[in-house]
Amino acid sequence: MSLHGKTALVTGSTSGIGLAIAEALAEAGASVILNGFGNVDEARERVARAGGRVGYHGADLGRVDEIDAMMRYASDEFGGVDVLVNNAGIQHVAPVEAFPVERWDAVLCLNLSAAFHTTRLALPPMRAKNWGRIVNVASVHGLVASANKSAYVAAKHGLVGLTKVTALETASTGITCNAMCPGWVLTPLVQKQVDDRAARDGLSDSEARAALLHEKQPSGDFVVPAHIGAMATFLCSEAASQIRGAAWTVDGGWTAQ
Ligand code: NAD
Repeated sequence: MSLHGKTALVTGSTSGIGLAIAEALAEAGASVILNGFGNVDEARERVARAGGRVGYHGADLGRVDEIDAMMRYASDEFGGVDVLVNNAGIQHVAPVEAFPVERWDAVLCLNLSAAFHTTRLALPPMRAKNWGRIVNVASVHGLVASANKSAYVAAKHGLVGLTKVTALETASTGITCNAMCPGWVLTPLVQKQVDDRAARDGLSDSEARAALLHEKQPSGDFVVPAHIGAMATFLCSEAASQIRGAAWTVDGGWTAQ
């Protein structure tokens, strides 16, 4: 499949799943706009090696004015966004009654509201071209819950809901909107939870990884970021043009239980 001539904006693409999606879309021929913090140069190099033109905007997606600026950059420098991947996300783990209010706001803001803002700004030009792909990186936690993840679970369920509404509102157009729902993927976001588990229970790194997987993911293996990239690329293809409002799991059997 070819995404030549298309521009993809992948939020939170300097690390983990977003970076793998950016690489996969670049391999498929898209120009890619990266976003996120941390090692930007390394991310740029990896995506440039995978394919065509690479841009970057460092918007903090917790701020609506910076999201506005990122979408303007995409329009001015790349002629707009054809493929929007709402991937940026953060986690915080605590019971509801002890959940820091500021962390609740931050998780909802980044994992849910940012996707609303990018989507509302991306849709008018997509409608003008009658083509677009919106792929929301939700989670198994968009479908089922785990204790101590109230903000994340609420945000991801919300993101699956936003996906369905966006899909319905664009159902008769060439724009599709779908969500991907990964289980455990070994990225910096999950490594932090591995570290916490190791410290809490006096486990080695590999024991803590095995313990996390054992609880939830029947395959006993982590999902590979590149496999999520491949799924995103498929959702952008012509063959996926009637997949609308879906929430696809890639979770080693987590939600089959
Ligand atoms: P990660 O921590 O490796 O990457 C997160 C990315 O978001 C980074 O590029 C970071 O710079 C960026 N980011 C963080 N705050 C930002 C902000 N305010 N503005 C802009 N960018 C910001 O995490 P990951 O595991 O690759 O997660 C990516 C997505 O996948 C998230 O939405 C996460 O919820 C989801 N997800 C992850 C897993 C998993 O097991 N890792 C499972 C299911 C869903």
